[in-house]
Amino acid sequence: MRVVVTRAPHRVLVADALGCLLLLFLGRFRLLVHARILPDMAELESWKHCPRCGAGLEPLGGGARVECPQCGFHYYASSKPTASGLLLDGGGRILLARRAREPDQGKWDLPGGFLNEGEDPRDALRRELTEETSLDVELLEFFDVVVDRYGDADDAQWTLNLYWTCRVVSGTPTPADDVDELRWFARDELPPAGELAFHNNVKVISRWRDEHP
Ligand SMILES: [Zn+2]
Repeated sequence: MRVVVTRAPHRVLVADALGCLLLLFLGRFRLLVHARILPDMAELESWKHCPRCGAGLEPLGGGARVECPQCGFHYYASSKPTASGLLLDGGGRILLARRAREPDQGKWDLPGGFLNEGEDPRDALRRELTEETSLDVELLEFFDVVVDRYGDADDAQWTLNLYWTCRVVSGTPTPADDVDELRWFARDELPPAGELAFHNNVKVISRWRDEHP
């Protein structure tokens, strides 16, 4: 016995017409769709060759990973971890660092930086704070974690940013490394969002402000 399922002709026509419209729409706005997809694959977007053997590579899984067909090298894209400090003085002021380099050169940043390979994030934070401010600090409490991007460029690296509250143990704030100015800000004097570097700082400072009215 044969079962034949038919659709009314006008429904087929409507379905075809909708399909054509959808294709036209996607074609017309391909650049827009492309621009919205690209940022999710920033890390491996530019990988054309295997770093181990030089064979040609195509990112897989929408840019989530590469697998070398020649030597078997595997690499998974991920967000780069950073550690930063809400460094507080006795009066509840926060120390901000003005960035000497791009991205976001000239904007105020919470001091901190990228972890070295294998480095504990708390050690990384103490190291970065000493490099950027010449201060010895003590970490107090873990405050927040925020996923962000390192700047606004289409291929900007994704970052996973960890924050601790800290206090100064010794030293005088002296800008160095990629910082050209350090300044203590009282709660009500903190710079507006437009003068802060990176979206994650805006989020963390805003939360800090909300929790310390
Ligand atoms: Zn290879």
